[in-house]
Amino acid sequence: MRFPFSLTRSMTGYLVRKRLAREKRFPLVLMLEPLFACNLRCTGCGRVREYADWVHQRLSVEACLAALEECGAPIVSICGGEPLIYPEIGELVGQILARRKHIYLCTNGVALAEKLPLFRPCSRLFINVHLDGMEATHDAITGRPGVFAAATAGIRAAKAAGFQVCTNTTVYRQTDAQEIAVLFEYLTQLGVDGLMLSPAYGYEAVREDAAGAADDVFMTRPEIEEKFRDLRRLVGGRRLVTSPVYFDFLCGHRPLQCAAWANPTYNVCGWKGPCYLITDRHHETYRELLDATDWDRLGPGRDPRCEHCLVHCGFEPAAVLSAKGRDLARMAVWQMT
Ligand code: SF4
Repeated sequence: MRFPFSLTRSMTGYLVRKRLAREKRFPLVLMLEPLFACNLRCTGCGRVREYADWVHQRLSVEACLAALEECGAPIVSICGGEPLIYPEIGELVGQILARRKHIYLCTNGVALAEKLPLFRPCSRLFINVHLDGMEATHDAITGRPGVFAAATAGIRAAKAAGFQVCTNTTVYRQTDAQEIAVLFEYLTQLGVDGLMLSPAYGYEAVREDAAGAADDVFMTRPEIEEKFRDLRRLVGGRRLVTSPVYFDFLCGHRPLQCAAWANPTYNVCGWKGPCYLITDRHHETYRELLDATDWDRLGPGRDPRCEHCLVHCGFEPAAVLSAKGRDLARMAVWQMT
């Protein structure tokens, strides 16, 4: 199975309840950013730029749990910033698991081996390590030698300790699809349980880097579609956790309408609206984010800021929620294999 049975069962039950209640918009994944501080400064990371003034602040565990309670999402993606340098990360993960939620603990992996004793393996916990290429490429993107070695050492240690580990790879304009095939072979040998691919497109927070250095790594929609058609040919048979419907969209083979409301972002400034990537304002509550945002005016063809966006947290939920008939069957087969 692509995801543990517990995740499939809890998501199916949750979706059925929401459908029966005829709720039009509801959360699937809470993007929880307990802090913005990080031990790296990677090419393409918007957070260290957009939230530079808040980098020394962090959410309390109580505030994180209150946000989760308020929105009720069945899955929490703990991101940031680097969550493993959040001082209360062990307690936060334990408290969320105690509430029977599923967690993607997103990390650059640098401190993973050292911090593993803070956690216990659980079918509802995935450690999600960011790796953008093999050693030379990844160290260049993260701006520091030794990051690839530390992250892969962390993956080995986590697998040896019985954790579920997946990886997330951002695909830039310069990314060599063949290198991603080599990377995925390597990660498969390490026993990684799932491989995720994300396209890099230039949104406000990264395009407006004062140095202007990051500009040329971001792709336009046609570039993303071409790159992902290559990737599908090279790595389509791997254990991808990118759904087949979303992958079709990434290849330009089908349209999807953005469902950013399903993956809301909560951080020290509040509920980030309208989405993970662009910021109009921060809201005090998830309900206020839902009610105050004109969702029908967002998305490619509607808002110029969305024109090249194919981001996972906006369109993977759209793929899941829109799947019917043959697509639903494809999703079921994908999950079962
Ligand atoms: S398409 Fe959706 S996820 Fe992408 S930038 Fe626009 S609102 Fe955000």
